Amino acid sequence: MKILNKSDKELLLKSIRTVEDFPKPGISFKDITTLLGDEKAYTFLMNHLKARYENQNIDYIAGIESRGFIFGASLATMLGIKFVPIRKPGKLPYTTISEKYSLEYGVDEIQIHIDAFKCEKENPSVLLIDDLIATGGTAKAAVTLINKAGAKCKEACFVINLKFLNGDEDIKKITSVYSVLEID
Ligand code: AMP
Repeated sequence: MKILNKSDKELLLKSIRTVEDFPKPGISFKDITTLLGDEKAYTFLMNHLKARYENQNIDYIAGIESRGFIFGASLATMLGIKFVPIRKPGKLPYTTISEKYSLEYGVDEIQIHIDAFKCEKENPSVLLIDDLIATGGTAKAAVTLINKAGAKCKEACFVINLKFLNGDEDIKKITSVYSVLEID
C-alpha cells in the first residue's frame, strides 16, 4: 500500500481551492471542484485510493451526500464493487433507516435504504467515503447507520481532514480512519 510523500500531498493540496467565508462568515471552505477539474490530481488521488483498497475484501463503498458520491462512486467502479449512497432526508425513494446527529445549532439527519447491504454475504464489509471531515458528526452518524443496516464499516476515508477540529477522534472509537490530507 503506497504511502503518499510530501510532493504527492502538495500536488493534491495545490489542486484544492480555499474559499473564505463560505457558506457563512468564518468558514474556510475547501472546494474540491478544482481538484476534480485537474485531471492529473484527480487521477492521482483515485489511483492512490485504488491501491489502498484493492484486495481488502471490501464489498461496498458508501458515499455521503453529495461530494462523497463523486469519490465513492469513482472508486467503486475502479474496484469493481457496489456503491451505496447515504443521503439527506426525503431523497431516497424506498424504505429507509435514519440517524440523527448534532450540529452547532440544531440537528441534522442522514438516511440509507433498508436493503442497501443485502447481498449473499452476512455482515458485508463497507468502506465509507466523504470529501472532508470537520467535526466528524456526519461521518460518525454514517458509520452508525452502516452498522445498523447490517453491514460492518471497515474504514472511514476522507480526502481532507481538518485535523485542528479533532473530528476523527470519536470516529476512531468505532472504526478505522484514513485521511489522505490533514490540514492543521
Ligand atoms: P462534519 O459533520 O462537521 O464533519 O462536516 C462534514 C461535512 O460537511 C462534509 O460532508 C463536508 O463536505 C462538509 N464540510 C464541513 N466543513 C467544510 C469545509 N470547511 N469545507 C468544505 N466542506 C465542509
